Amino acid sequence: MRSVLRYVDYVARPDPDGEQTWQAECVTDVGDKDCGVKCPELGGEQAVVDWMAEHTKETGHERFKRIYEDYALVKKAEK
Ligand SMILES: [Zn+2]
Repeated sequence: MRSVLRYVDYVARPDPDGEQTWQAECVTDVGDKDCGVKCPELGGEQAVVDWMAEHTKETGHERFKRIYEDYALVKKAEK
């Protein structure tokens, strides 16, 4: 049997019912490991910037990993 390859375009859009969350983790090198302090999940990007600024002010740490999560709905693109 011969397989038929189909190329269908899909589109992803943000799920309006899905929550968007931002988080940050301090990955500043402290000796032989990362600092590792994490903020709770926050509802906006600015809240994460504020949290990081506070942590930097307290500790002098300057390197963070930022984590952004959202939900997406994927559908076949209409032609
Ligand atoms: Zn830190």
